[in-house]
Amino acid sequence: MATRPEENKDIFDTAIKSLLDLVSARKISPELPEELLQFEEYVHLHAMLSEIRKSLTAFADGNVEYPITQKGYMAGTMKHLQSSLYHLTWQTKRIASGDFSQRIDFMGDFSESFNSMVMQLDETRQQLSQIAYTDQLTGISNRRHFMETLGNEVERAKRYDMPLSFIMFDLDHFKQVNDTYGHSAGDKALQTFAGVFRNSNLRSCDIFGRIGGEEFALALPETTLQDAFGVAERIRATLEKTVISHKDLSFSITTSIGVCEYKKDDTLESLLQRGDLAMYQAKESGRNRVCLENTKAS
Ligand code: GH3
Ligand code: MG
Ligand code: MG
Repeated sequence: MATRPEENKDIFDTAIKSLLDLVSARKISPELPEELLQFEEYVHLHAMLSEIRKSLTAFADGNVEYPITQKGYMAGTMKHLQSSLYHLTWQTKRIASGDFSQRIDFMGDFSESFNSMVMQLDETRQQLSQIAYTDQLTGISNRRHFMETLGNEVERAKRYDMPLSFIMFDLDHFKQVNDTYGHSAGDKALQTFAGVFRNSNLRSCDIFGRIGGEEFALALPETTLQDAFGVAERIRATLEKTVISHKDLSFSITTSIGVCEYKKDDTLESLLQRGDLAMYQAKESGRNRVCLENTKAS
C-alpha cells in the first residue's frame, strides 16, 4: 500500500531501527513493527535476518542441529558452517570410539591443533597398551596379552577346525637359582630365557609370553602336537646349553615343558590346564624334558 511522502521518512526510520534491532539488540527476538507489515519484501528480509539471528544464537548455545530453513547466501553460509560443525561432531565421536585416523582440514588453526591432539592421543594410547601388554622384566608379552591372544586363537581353531598347539614352560629349581646366585642373577636368567624365545625363529603368528614368575608359554597356531614337540625340544636344548652371565657369575638353567594340542570343545582354561598337567609330568619324570600330554617324557 502506498504512503504519503511525509510519512516515508518515519517508515524508513522505523524500518532502519527495526533492522538495527535485529542485528544488534540483545532482545530475545526483535518484533516486526506493525506499520511495516504492509511491505511484503521488507517482511521477507526481516524474516530472513531473524532466522539467521536465531541460527547464530542456537550455534552459540551449542545446538549444531538447529534447522536452517531460509535460502540465500547468508543462510547458505550458515548451513555450510553447520555441516562443518556437524561433521566435526561425528569425527569426535569416531575418535571417542577409538578411530584415531580422523583428521580435519576445514577450520584453520583449530584443525592443526585438533589433529595434533588426536595424533598425541593415539601415540599415548599405543604407549599405554604397550606397557599394559608387556612384561617389564623381559620385554615379552605378559600374561594378560598372552591369554587374550591365545583366547582368539582358540576361537579360530574352533571356527576353522585348525590345529593349535600349546606349550607350557616352568623353569627347574628356580628358587634354588635365586638362593644360590641371588635374585638379580635370577632376573637375568628370566631375561635370558625370553631371549631364547626371541631367537628361536618362531613365526610371526606364534605367541609367547611370561605368564607367571618363572612360567612361560608358547602357542603355535596351525601346528600339530608332533611339530610342537619339535619346537619345544629345540627350545629346551638351547636353554640347557645357554650360559647366563651376571656380574662375575656364569651358570645355566633348565626348563620342564608340557605340550598339548587343542581338541574339539576345548576352552582357553581347559587347554591351559592340559598344558600344565603335561608340564607336571615332565617335572615328575625328572625335569629338563618335554612331555606330550598323556605320554611319557622324551
Ligand atoms: P620346580 O622345578 O618344581 O618348578 O621348582 P621351583 O623352585 O622353580 O619352583 P617354585 O614354585 O618353588 O619357585 C619358583 C621361584 O621362582 C620362586 C620365586 O622366587 C622365583 N621367581 C618368581 N618370579 C621371579 C622373578 O621375577 N625374579 C626372580 N629372580 N625370581 C622369581
Ligand atoms: Mg612355577
Ligand atoms: Mg619352577
